[in-house]
Parts: sequence; C-alpha cells; structure tokens
Amino acid sequence: MIPGWPSLPVVGGEPWPVRRIWCVGRNYADHAREMGADPARELPFFFAKPADALVPAAVDVPYPPATAELHHEVELVVAVGGEIESLPPIEALRRVFGYGVGVDLTRRDLQRSAKAARQPWALAKGFDHSAPCSALRPASQIGHPTRGAIELSVNGELRQRGDLAQMIWSVAEVLSELSRSIGLRRGDLLFTGTPAGVGPLVVGDRVAARVDGVGRLAFSIAPCRHGLGAAGP
Ligand code: MN
Repeated sequence: MIPGWPSLPVVGGEPWPVRRIWCVGRNYADHAREMGADPARELPFFFAKPADALVPAAVDVPYPPATAELHHEVELVVAVGGEIESLPPIEALRRVFGYGVGVDLTRRDLQRSAKAARQPWALAKGFDHSAPCSALRPASQIGHPTRGAIELSVNGELRQRGDLAQMIWSVAEVLSELSRSIGLRRGDLLFTGTPAGVGPLVVGDRVAARVDGVGRLAFSIAPCRHGLGAAGP
C-alpha cells in the first residue's frame, strides 16, 4: 500500500484501503422533494469524490474554502469487496464487503450554481475532507441492512431522520446499475443517498450520525485550514 493512502478501520479487522468513492444522488423521495426534484423512480444517477476526500472515523473536518453553505447529508456507505461488472442485483450484493456510516459533505451554494449553469458538481461534492466515514462493519457480521433508522444530529439536535427502507433504489439495485457503466473493484465505496433534513454546518458544530445495526460517526467542524498547506486528511 502507498504510505498515506486513504483507508478505513474495520471493526474486528485490518485497515481497509479505499480505491474510489462513488455517490448516488436523490435516493430518498423526501430528500428529492426538498431539493425541488420529482422523486419518480428514474434510473439512479452518480457522481464521485476523490479517494483522498475520505476522512476516517473520529477525525475532525475542517470547514472548506470557497463556500458559505456547507451541508450535511448522512448516508449508508457500502464497501465493495470484489469485482462487480454488469451484474444483476443479487450477484452485486454478494460482492459487498461491509457497511459504514458516512456524511456526503456538500458545498450547497456551489452545487446550486452548477445546476443553474449546467456545469459538473465536482467542486460542490469532491473537495478535500468531503467524505467523513465511520469504521466498516463486515457483512459477514451484520448481514445486508435494508431497514433501520438513519439519523444525523448537530450539537445534540436531530436534523435528519429516515429509514433505510425509504431508499428509492436498494443497495443491490444501485450497485448493479452503476456496474453497467464502470467496473467496481475491491476498495470502492458507494455513498447511497440521504434522507430529508439536509442543512448547514458552521465551525464548532458537533455532528453525530448513526445507522441502526451499522454504526456511528461523530466529528466536529474545525476552522478552515486551506492555504496553510494542510490539504488531505
Ligand atoms: Mn448525497
């Protein structure tokens, strides 16, 4: 492994190197509505974050530059454990290594202007430190969660609460669909979308996220370090 390569802890296991980070957009109907979209069951769509946007469990997240509207999106994170290429949902699910709890941090102001200008979301979604994620729990221990609370609170106040059963596209279906376009490999992470209640974070906020049966993630928003030579987790 390259020294400093991003990895996640595994509950009861060795650190798990992360290869790529994929994300699915608008996968809970109530969040699609709050973003002004129609939650009809259109095919899922995808975007990516660089692997080194990962912030492993319990490390604080610096406020990013170039935004005045950093938003939280709590998500179930899937860790791919094998090769998935144009596989049906049931086969794709068999190649899942495990699960974690992540927050898809988003520069909402940049995303809004990108949408308006029909430009890519790269800088709205793929900035440094934009992918905090908990330790992984192997599917061999917890199975493949399909229901259970998914929640995020800020400074002890509940902001997001949904249930995994509200996903428009299941984990198996999302993996299968993504695998039609790209080859998923061991080390790839997939952020599977967020329920309603996304909102802003400011420096000093304490974020706590959890998914029933999967785990917990807690971090604070630290002052911006950009320009001080501290890029990367
Ligand atoms: Mn998201």
